Amino acid sequence: MTPVHLTTGAATDVGRVRDHNEDAFLVTDRVMAVADGMGGHAAGEVASALAIESLEALAAREVVTADDVGVAVEAANDAILDSAVEHPERRGMGTTLTGLALVTSGETEAAGWVVFNVGDSRVYRLAAGTLEQLTVDHSEVQELIDAGVITSREAAIHPARNVITRSLGLMASAEPDLWTLPVEDGERFLVCSDGLTNEVRESDLARILGEEDDPQEAAELLVAAANRSGGRDNITVVVVHARLSGEPGSP
Ligand code: MG
Repeated sequence: MTPVHLTTGAATDVGRVRDHNEDAFLVTDRVMAVADGMGGHAAGEVASALAIESLEALAAREVVTADDVGVAVEAANDAILDSAVEHPERRGMGTTLTGLALVTSGETEAAGWVVFNVGDSRVYRLAAGTLEQLTVDHSEVQELIDAGVITSREAAIHPARNVITRSLGLMASAEPDLWTLPVEDGERFLVCSDGLTNEVRESDLARILGEEDDPQEAAELLVAAANRSGGRDNITVVVVHARLSGEPGSP
């Protein structure tokens, strides 16, 4: 397997309005994720924690393939549904789940990324100074953008901007969107909940992610920026820097 070196940082914060934090995150040496839970009676916290647990089990496997990622996301959905059956007060709880996993392809044993998403948390990639949103939100406003009804600028202030169209815990099956990409030296990833992206412009995300070389510092600066612009939701940020050994380079 290509020697890939990851350095990571993560921060989560309740924000300045909500009274508890329903977001959760995972950072391991090959699976990084964010889950944004929803539901009354603190059930949102349960849903996001169950989703993260399922990915912990994935990260503990000796070999992780792209197929395993899809299976783990479906297992998270099952765990949330089962929990809601056992605890009726949790009925209706759900969560987003997004992130990236370093996988091994069976034949070549080359390392690659699988980016996965259900809901409106996001994965961004910064390379060569350009920030790109890799995931596509499962949201009403994204559907309106796709249909050409509104622009992404209008989406940012649209009244339905928090309405998601796919999440874990609501339906019998919850297939994630998956993207595969090669590992590139010097690339940086940002995995985050909408508490960040609803508060901080993408140009500022790119600047902070690009300028701060310590991923932990970057994660904390991003959370602070979201709180400065209102902190209306829970804010969760995971930052990943990838290096291929022996290859000099920077984003
Ligand atoms: Mg949120």
